[in-house]
Amino acid sequence: MITLKSPRELDTMRRAGRIVHDTLALMHEIVRPGLSTEDLDAEAERFIRSHPGATPSFKGLYGFPKTLCTSVDIEIVHGIPSKKKLLESGSIVSVDVGVCIDGLHADSATTIPVGPVSEDIVRLLTVTKASLDAGIAAALVGNRVGDIGHAVQTVAEAAGYGVVRELVGHGIGTRFHEEPQVPNFGTPGKGPALRAGMTIAIEPMITMGSPETKTLADKWTVVTADRSLSAHFEHTVALTGNGPVILTAGE
Ligand code: MG
Ligand code: MG
Repeated sequence: MITLKSPRELDTMRRAGRIVHDTLALMHEIVRPGLSTEDLDAEAERFIRSHPGATPSFKGLYGFPKTLCTSVDIEIVHGIPSKKKLLESGSIVSVDVGVCIDGLHADSATTIPVGPVSEDIVRLLTVTKASLDAGIAAALVGNRVGDIGHAVQTVAEAAGYGVVRELVGHGIGTRFHEEPQVPNFGTPGKGPALRAGMTIAIEPMITMGSPETKTLADKWTVVTADRSLSAHFEHTVALTGNGPVILTAGE
């Protein structure tokens, strides 16, 4: 079922979204070579819980053990923070985080360079971010879910990148994952209609090579099958009659 949120619920999601944004801003500040992904997780959890009533959405969700998903280089999503995983200069780390406050969630991800990175990587990050922007711009009342996916896919594939199919964006609200699914590929004019009051997480997962994926033995970490690098950007967006409003933009 697709749920429509009241103005009050949207206000609450905006509060959750601000904490999500500020958590990712903090991650941008502290990421450096030599830090472990567990260090990031500990900082993120401490920061989220410093806000009265706020809890990390991921912890315990489907049994996930941590506050963040930290996915390095060929890891696409759902990497589990670990003391053993040290960030190396020239790498990229996708940091994905959700926050729940007063029973409502917000969800956002960003991919952060560790020290200086190659021009190829800068381009991957720029294009993935641009594909998210294009998806958000297509999140218009009267459009359909396929318009969002088509917009994301067009930007990513025009740059020669792969669009991951197995993992998709989603509705979000009182539950972290709600309907509809929001794929990063699609046909314009197809799929569920977009209505005012819907809140969705749009999250392109883009690869430098093939979009095929593999799940590691830890049963969480999804990597590119061809070991190409991958980037992931995400925002939680509210659909309104005045256009899409990003709830995780820190505004
Ligand atoms: Mg996320
Ligand atoms: Mg999400």
